[in-house]
This record gives sequence, C-alpha cells and structure tokens, in this order.
Amino acid sequence: MFDINLLIRKNIRSLVPYSSARDEYKGEEAVFLDANENPFNTPLNRYPDPHQLKLKKTISTIKNVPAECIFLGNGSDEAIDLLIRAFCEPGVDNIVSIKPTYGMYKVCADINNVEFREVLLNKDFQPDTEGLLKRADNNSKLLFLCSPNNPTSNSFKKEDLLHLVKKFPGLVIIDEAYIDFSGAGTLTGELGNYPNLVILQTFSKAWGMAGVRLGMAFAGKEIIDVLSHIKYPYNINVLTQRTALECLSDTRKKDTWIREILDQREYLRKELSRLPMVKHILPSDANFLMVRFDNPQEIFHYLINKKIIVRDRSKVILCEGFLRITVGSEAENSELVKALQQY
Ligand SMILES: *Cc1c(COP(=O)(O)O)cnc(C)c1O
Repeated sequence: MFDINLLIRKNIRSLVPYSSARDEYKGEEAVFLDANENPFNTPLNRYPDPHQLKLKKTISTIKNVPAECIFLGNGSDEAIDLLIRAFCEPGVDNIVSIKPTYGMYKVCADINNVEFREVLLNKDFQPDTEGLLKRADNNSKLLFLCSPNNPTSNSFKKEDLLHLVKKFPGLVIIDEAYIDFSGAGTLTGELGNYPNLVILQTFSKAWGMAGVRLGMAFAGKEIIDVLSHIKYPYNINVLTQRTALECLSDTRKKDTWIREILDQREYLRKELSRLPMVKHILPSDANFLMVRFDNPQEIFHYLINKKIIVRDRSKVILCEGFLRITVGSEAENSELVKALQQY
C-alpha cells in the first residue's frame, strides 16, 4: 500500500502553506482592494492566478490528465527541485538515478545536500533495473529516470520502466521532456495504476517555448498537492500563463513543427552518416543526434569558428567521442552539413 506520509519530510507534512489574497477570495470580477496592487497598468498590475486554473484546464484536455493531477512550474527544473525538497531529508535521505543523464537531477540533489546514487546504463544505454533496485534502501525517496534520455537520445523499454515503478520503495520520476519526438508513447495513461509515479514534461522542446519557462509534473493528487503547497505562491507569472494559453489554442502548429523536426532528423542522419569523419550516430528518439567522431574536440572548435555551436559530450561516461547536435531548421541543418563537408 502506498502511503505518501511515509515518504514526505516531517516539516513539509506539518507545513501551513502561505495563503495569498487570491486564495482567500476566489471570485471573478470585483473591486480588488485586498492585495495592495497598483490600480493602474492593467493587466500586469494584478498578481497571477496562483493555481493557474485556466491553463491547467486547457492542458488537462490536451494531455488527457485530470487538472488536479497537474503541477506547473517555472520549467521542469522547479518540479525537480520541489520533489527533492518535499521528500528528501538533507543529510539523511538519498536519490537513485541513472548515468549518464540530464545534469539537473544531481545539481538539485547537491544543492539540497541529498546523496545522489548513480547506476551506469548498460551497453545498449538501457537502465540496469536490478542494479538500480539494489542501490535503494529505506532512505531512498526518489528514483529519477529520463526517457527518451538526454544525452543518449534513446527511449527506455516500457516494461523496464514499469518494473522499476512497481519495485522502487519511493517515488519514480520519469522525465519525458522529449516524448513528442519519440515512437514510444507517454506513460501518463499509467498514472492511475501507480500512485508513486511522477511524469515530467515541458513546453521547452516540442512546443517551442523554452523562453517562457513552463514545465509540467503529472502525478496522483496527493503528490501534486504537496508540490503546490511548497511552491512560491505566484510561480507562474501573468505573461507566461497568457502566452502559454495562446500557444495551446493551436496545437496544429506544434504538430507541424514536430513533423518537420522528425523529417530533418532523418535528413541530418543520412547526410552526416555519409561523411568520412562521422564514426557512428546513435538511434534517436529525441530532437537531437549523438554523433561520434575520432577527434570530437577538433570538430567542435572547427564548428565554433564557422559560428555553428553544438554540445561537446565527448567526456561524458559512455558517450566518449560524441557531440550532441540539436536538429535545427532546414537552413541551419544544411549549413552544418556544408561546414562538415568542407572540413
Ligand atoms: C530540456 C530538458 C528539460 C526541460 O527543462 P525546462 O526547465 O522545462 O526547460 C527537462 N528534462 C530534460 C531531460 C531536458 O533535456
């Protein structure tokens, strides 16, 4: 039986959350003299909706997840940090994760003084499920997984992910930042079956809104309530809520972008694999390609000279020799190919 009270930190369990003016009066139109706002400069003069109800309702329809099972953060990074702060007692509890993966999980753990236990992916870049479970003990509160994984660009097997969700003693967080570019489906449909499952998604990639800073966490209502109680009251500002609602009103645009990026991913793979200096390209379920060179750093600096910036991942364990190349627009990708042909 899942009991969130056995996982949550004591001080968070007994927390009395901040109550804002907009918490205490929830009606619509009125003369608002309760929040010490400036009456001029509408609509920026008003505090944003602390619960983002309209935005969550829209996201709920698009993602087919109940609004009460959605947390919105200042990027996924806020959800990552809040999960650690809510569930991990500094200096006592620990987090289990894979290696290599997205760097923010470890940085947030380090900031919060929470031990971060990493288990190397196997040779196929899949999680070592038994190794991960063996590293867990009574103080393991969170397991961070990322599928499709950054930087290895592959999806993990659904049965392995669900096996970990079933067997891990704490919350299992699956970061689906790249899910829209993947052949593997989202696991949001499994939320009702697993009360310890948390899924992260973001508006930074497929939706083209990295500058807006909006991330989503999907989980059971109990987990979402904990995150909502400890977040800054107005974590999603008026401009972000408004811009996101505008973008979400036309999902066809996002679908066109995804199709274009997937086409370009295949174009890049074909063109790059023809080049003599390209040794290997990992299969990708994301909007980037991991490309191996014998002389990655030389290529990296050559490209910088050509004003093309890629990510040097050549010193990352299991990714030795690889550069991480984001799939850009058609023009950007052919510029990259041209530059490499001239190398
Ligand atoms: C890009 C990325 C994110 C997005 O983070 P935001 O804070 O929402 O911009 C999350 N997870 C992974 C693995 C990523 O690569």
